[in-house]
Formats: sequence, C-alpha cells, structure tokens
Amino acid sequence: MSSSGQRVAPEDGGHPAAPADALADLEHALCQPLAAGLKPVLEAARDALLQATAQCQSAQQRYRALFDAFPDPVSILSASGTVLDVNAAGVQAYGRSRQEIVGQPIELLNPDLPEDHLQPVWDTLNRGQTYVIEVTNMRGDGSRFPVEVHSASFQNDGQPCIVAVARDLSRRWQAESRYRLLLESIDKGVMLFDQHFQVISANPAAHRILGLGAEPPTQIPMEGEEWITVDEHGRRLRTEQWPVSRAFRDGHTIPSTIVGLYHRPRGRMIWISITTVPVFSCGRDLPDHVFSMFSDVTELKRDHVLFDRAQALAHIGGWEWDRGQQRLYLTGEAQRILGHTPPPATLEQLLQCLGSDDRLRLQQTLDREVERKRGFELDLQGLRGDGHSVWIRMIGEIEAGDMASSRIAGTLQDITERKHAEETLKTQARTDPLTGIMNRDAALADLKARLGNPSHAQVAVLYIDLDRFKTVNDVLGHNAGDELLIEATRRIANAIGTEGLLARFGGDEFVVICDAREVPEHPQLLAQAITDAFAPLFRLGKDEFAVTTSIGIARAPEDGQSPQELIQNADRAMYECKRRSRNGWQVFTPELAREQRDRLQIERRLRRALERNEFRLVYQPQVDLRGGRIVGAEALIRWRNRQLGELRPDIFISHAETTGDIVRIGDWVLREACRQVREWMDEGLGLVRIAINVSYRQFNGDNLARRLREILDEYRLPGAALELEFTERVLIEDAPATLHTFAELREMGVMLTIDDFGEGYSALNYLRHLPIHGLKLSQLFINGVPGNRSDVAVCEAVCGIARSLGLGLVAEGVESEAQRQFLLELGVPIGQGFLFAPGLSPREFARRLR
Ligand code: C2E
Ligand code: MG
Ligand code: MG
Repeated sequence: MSSSGQRVAPEDGGHPAAPADALADLEHALCQPLAAGLKPVLEAARDALLQATAQCQSAQQRYRALFDAFPDPVSILSASGTVLDVNAAGVQAYGRSRQEIVGQPIELLNPDLPEDHLQPVWDTLNRGQTYVIEVTNMRGDGSRFPVEVHSASFQNDGQPCIVAVARDLSRRWQAESRYRLLLESIDKGVMLFDQHFQVISANPAAHRILGLGAEPPTQIPMEGEEWITVDEHGRRLRTEQWPVSRAFRDGHTIPSTIVGLYHRPRGRMIWISITTVPVFSCGRDLPDHVFSMFSDVTELKRDHVLFDRAQALAHIGGWEWDRGQQRLYLTGEAQRILGHTPPPATLEQLLQCLGSDDRLRLQQTLDREVERKRGFELDLQGLRGDGHSVWIRMIGEIEAGDMASSRIAGTLQDITERKHAEETLKTQARTDPLTGIMNRDAALADLKARLGNPSHAQVAVLYIDLDRFKTVNDVLGHNAGDELLIEATRRIANAIGTEGLLARFGGDEFVVICDAREVPEHPQLLAQAITDAFAPLFRLGKDEFAVTTSIGIARAPEDGQSPQELIQNADRAMYECKRRSRNGWQVFTPELAREQRDRLQIERRLRRALERNEFRLVYQPQVDLRGGRIVGAEALIRWRNRQLGELRPDIFISHAETTGDIVRIGDWVLREACRQVREWMDEGLGLVRIAINVSYRQFNGDNLARRLREILDEYRLPGAALELEFTERVLIEDAPATLHTFAELREMGVMLTIDDFGEGYSALNYLRHLPIHGLKLSQLFINGVPGNRSDVAVCEAVCGIARSLGLGLVAEGVESEAQRQFLLELGVPIGQGFLFAPGLSPREFARRLR
C-alpha cells in the first residue's frame, strides 16, 4: 500500500527530513549557474524556507502530540484502506509497533470486515456524514475486543483519506451484557414505558407472562381492543387508575398491586403483581419513563379464589389477631359467618358478637393460650346482625417462631347446622318416642348431674311400676298397651306437676326424680299423689279396668350416692311394695336392703336346689276333728341346703315366686306327691288324698291342668287323689286362663281349696262364681280362739260363708284341745295341726295311717 506514494509519516517512524538539509541541497543546485547577485534573494528565500520549515516542524510536532495524546486508537487510512498512520493509543491497544501497522491493510486490525466493506463507508462519507460501526478489532496476540468506530474523511495531499477513531466497548459490553443477562434470566417481567405508554423495551419474562410473541409489544397491554384491565376484585380499572399512569402522574413508586389482564382474543385471564417505578431525567420534576416489574400470580390468585370458594363451601373463614397492633383481620367468609356490618375489626368487637358466657370463655382462652403459647379450639355461640344465632367453631394457633405471641391466627367455621342437628339428635336420644318424656339415659344423666352438684345432692327417686300392665298388654294387644302407657304418663305428669322430673325407664316402669331438701316427706307426698291419680278406672274403648301402681322410694345420700345405686334401691323398694300389697308406695330401708341381700342369696341357691335334690316333702295329717281319724294329708315342702341349713317354705317360696322358679319347683312337688301316693298304694295302703299347695304363678300359663293330667296318668292315679290349695292371690292376679284351668281341674276330679282363707284380699264375691270345693280357715284366726273375740267372729263368719256356699271347711294350725272343741262346736269337721301331728316323713305318715 505504500505504493500509493502518499506520505503522511516517514518510514523511520516519526522524524521528517530536516528543512536545513533540503535548503543546502537547493543552494548547491542553484549556485552553480547563477551569479552571485542572486545571493540576497536566495538568502531571503532561504530564510523564508527556514521559517516555513520551522513552522511545519512545529505543526508536525503539534499534530503528533495531539494524535498520540488522543485516548482512543486513531488510524489514518488511505481511500483503499491502507493504514497510513496510527496513534500511540492504537499502538497500545493493538499490541503492535507502529511499523507493524503502518502500510498494512486495515484488515490487520479489523479481521472480520466483509470484502467490500469500504463501499458503504465511502457512500456515507461522500454524503458528508460520519460513518459509525460496531466491529471487532484484533490485537497482535490474536485476542479480540469490541469497538465502536467513528470514521470521517479528509483531503491529504489532494487525496481522500479516512480518519477512524475506535472506541473500546469491552467495559460497556461487559456491563451491558451483565444487565442483559439479568433481564433475560429473571422470572419477573420488566418493561420500560414512555409517557405515551409506549413500550420501549420488554424482557423475555414479560413476553412469556403476557403471552406475547417475540416482537416487542408497542402498546401498553392494559386497555384497548385486546386487553381489559381489572383490579384484584375484578372491577374494571380506568386508565388513570393503572399503576403506570399513577407512577407517571404522582412520580412515586407504586408498590406491588394485583392487576388482572384479560386478553380478549385469547380469552385468557392473567393476574400479575406489579411494581412501578418512575424514572426521571436530570433536573426534571416529572418522570419521562416508567419501569414496571411484575410477576405472574395467576395460579396463586386461582388458588386463592379456589381456597376462598372452598372456604365458603365449607363455611370456614380465616382470622388473625395482631396483638401488637390490636387489630383483627377476617377473611370474607369469616365476615359472612359472623354476619355483622361493618365486620369486627378489633378483638373487642368480635367479643361483642358472642353471647356473654362465650365472650368470657374466648377472652380467657386467648389470655391463657397466649401465655402457654398453645393453640385452642372452641365452639362458641354468637348472634348475627340479623338477630339469628350462629354457632362457630374457632380454632387458633400462635404462629411458630413468634416469640412474643404477637399474632394468633386460625379458622372460623360455621357449625350452626351441625349444632342444630346435634341438638335434635340429643333431644331425640333423650326422649322416649312413645310418651315424649325423658328416657332412661336422660334420667340417669340428669340424676348424675344432680348428685354431682353438692347443693342438689339431696335427691329422691320414685320408681313406679304399673300393676297388671302385662296382662293388659297380653290380652288387649300392644296398641292398647301403648294407649295405657300414654294415659299413665299423663296421670303421673299431672300428679307431680312441676315438683319432679318424669322419665320412662322402660316397659311399664317410670321414674320421678325430685328434690328432698326442704320437705323431707316430699317424695312420699308425690308417691301418694301418683297412687291417687290411678284410682279412677282406665277406659280403653269399651273396656274399663283398674290399673294401679307400685312405687319404691329411695333418697340420696342415705340410700345411694350413685344414680345406679339409687335407682336400684328405689326399684327394690318398689318390688317390696309389689310383693306386699301393690297399689301403694314403699320407702327403701336398710332392713329392706339386708332382706334383699338375703333373698338374693336364697334365690341364687334356690335355682340349683332341684337338680341338687335338696327338696323333700313331709305330710301333715288332716284328721276328723271328732274321732281323730286321718282323712288325708297336706304335702309340705322342705328344703335342706348345705350352707343355709333347713329352710321353711314360708321363707323361700316367696323368693321362688319372685324368680319364677316356683313353676319348676311346683311341678316337682306335684310329681313327688303323686309318686308317693302311688308308692303307698302299691304298698297296699289304699288311696289317701293329698293336698298340694299351688302358687298363683303356676296359674299364669294354661298348662297346669294338662301337666297334672300327665302326672296322674304317669302314676295311674285318679284326679280324686289330689286336692290343690291356692291362695286368694290367684283370684286377684287375674291371669286370663285361671277360670278355664279351674274348670278343667274340677272336671278331672281334683279338689280345689282356698288356703289361708280370710287372711288377705276379702274377694268374697269371687267365691260365688268359682268352681271350688272348700276353704281352709287360716291358722291366723285359729290361733286366737277361743279367747280372742274378733278371731272367734272371723271363724264364725268363714264358717257361715262356707256353709252358705256349700263349701267344705278345714281348720289348720290346731294346737290345743280347746281349739279342737271350739271348732267342733262351730261345726268344722276336719282339722290339721300340731295337736295331731306335724309334717311327717312318708314312712312315719304311712305308719300312722296303718
Ligand atoms: P300352709 O299351706 O298354710 O301350710 C300350713 C303351714 O302351717 C305349714 O307350714 C305347717 O307346717 C304349719 N303348721 C301346721 N300345723 C301347725 C300348727 O299346729 N301350728 C303352727 N304354728 N303351724 C302349723 P310350712 O310347712 O312352713 O308351710 C308354710 C307355707 O308354705 C304353707 O302354708 C304353704 O303356703 C307354703 N308351702 C308349703 N309347701 C308348699 C309347696 O309345696 N308348694 C307351695 N306352693 N307352697 C308351699
Ligand atoms: Mg296349705
Ligand atoms: Mg295355710
């Protein structure tokens, strides 16, 4: 390239030829042909030349100094691109000496230039403009660095040249690339807007979040054809409400705001959280740009919305109490549940929504749990603004790691429906469906609560059993039974009024719980009122009949301290009442308890006495009072138990009747007596009529006659071999099959006698209709004759009845000759008693008979 002939810098690198030498050459050339007269002219010329040379030299020095002082690499290029000169910064930057660079093509420094790169350069330069290009320059060691080259043209020796200033961009590139990297890699969208809301730039995250293509969005995506902008609650935002507008208007940073962007063409909703920062130019009051950074919260928002909806569906709201700030935060659902406008914003206001008891409970719980740093769960009842009551379950927890327990947060659940359902269930569970009064469980719970409360511990229990209810139920059917129970409930309820609590305990059993503190006789008075309430006959359809009650009374604390014990003792007293008389009441006593304990023991052993063969029969002769001849015998049962010893029947028979064991025992007695008669007959003793005691309970079923038939057949005995003694109890017990059984027995030839006549029930009018043969005058009255006048009177009366009804008469318990005389005078033909013989073993009886 040096062939171009242009010389801007000498080859030696920096020292142009000295003007004095050039002048001497000139002088030498001129002096030869010219005369000496020319000398002054020449000298003047030489001076001028010297001066010009000196000026040129200093200009050159200034140029070089300036050229080398320039901080960026500067090259002078020929029109064809040869490097004519390079400054010191260029030498430094390219890492080559000036000699290595000058005269070389520009490609040495710019290895990446295209082939005809000079054409566009000259096109621009020829238009008088500066050509600017970013390229890569190469150092002597082959390493490269980015530069921005500004090129201009100038004339050198009439030839067009280029001066090219290269600015090293390495530093800026580094900073910019870091910045770009940052913008490209962060997941936050970043956008720069100008005052017309035009987008100056947007990073890839912005494109991604807004679902835009690669082209930069020019229009702010907030309004217009494509976009609809809404606030957090879905309300349309006006242009002046957009965060970008506000940042431009106010010149403040608008901190994170939730904005929804609906893209119409795609039908897609995007939720972003956007922070907007104004950017000011130097010295300006209003921003000329605004930066927006935003993140995609669509999913978060969706979760939130779903969560909200789920909360609403489950009637669960959230709450947080900031103790430090004394502020209460409630979610929408929590506010809805509480139902107050405006919603409570402080704890005090929340407490006001609750009933006074629960208010205190919540306050105390909060205080306590904050102290202990624990959570809590409370069911509270409140009153909504509309006056409806609401049940809420409030769960609270102290935030983990919150040392000062400054925040308590939790959930608030509407459990009103559940509570109501529970209440209904509870009521149902407590109510007897037939009568609508409390049931057993409820009564026990009530009793337990009363006994647990010292001020109510003096409680009495009335255990009520309807007499003969089972007969009504069996004979008239369950509907009649139900009707009877309802009517009985009504009568008891009326009788006790508000003085006691009535519950049905099951079947035909009722319990009244009452207070026994102030009036000690209160339970008895109630019992009497109930007894009286059953005096009028019950009417079921056309039928009228009497139903009475047996009532047992037990009181706390003396008769029991637990509900079970108290009820059990009241039940025992009731049983005692039933056992004795029915239709009345019996107060529980310790003796009763002891008796019952004994009875229980007896009953337990009695149950197994038959299989253990512990029974036997003795036979007490019945004699002709006149001559003393044995006409028959009464079979009397004897029980010998290993532990209890010999027990008399008047002790254990009633237990056997209570337990029902008497039916099996009675069956055994019948068989044993028949077996004995057969044995005696086989021994040639002849037929002796044996009187057998039959319990009223043996009449309950309809198989007494059938059973007796079987036994008689088994031992080949006629019915006339037996006499059955039963008490008046059989008559009032009112078992439906009794009359029929009597008729059957009589048909079989069995004699029927009423035992202990006159002792009990005075049901004289029955006698007329009964198919019986005779009466046994109770030893209760024989005992007093002939001395006791009233006993004499009873004996005379019974004698009269028997005679007038045509019934036979036997006197029992005849112990003295005086009694025998009295009875003989009264016309009683037959007697039985220790005067003649006690109960005898079969062998002894047989011996005496012979
Ligand atoms: P009961 O049928 O009136 O029997 C008469 C009772 O009086 C018998 O008592 C007998 O021993 C007793 N006795 C007889 N003569 C005299 C006397 O001169 N003076 C006195 N003080 N007592 C006399 P026992 O054997 O203790 O029977 C008591 C009751 O037990 C009987 O009264 C009867 O009701 C019942 N009983 C006895 N055996 C049976 C039985 O096999 N089945 C049933 N169901 N009850 C029975
Ligand atoms: Mg008897
Ligand atoms: Mg008797």
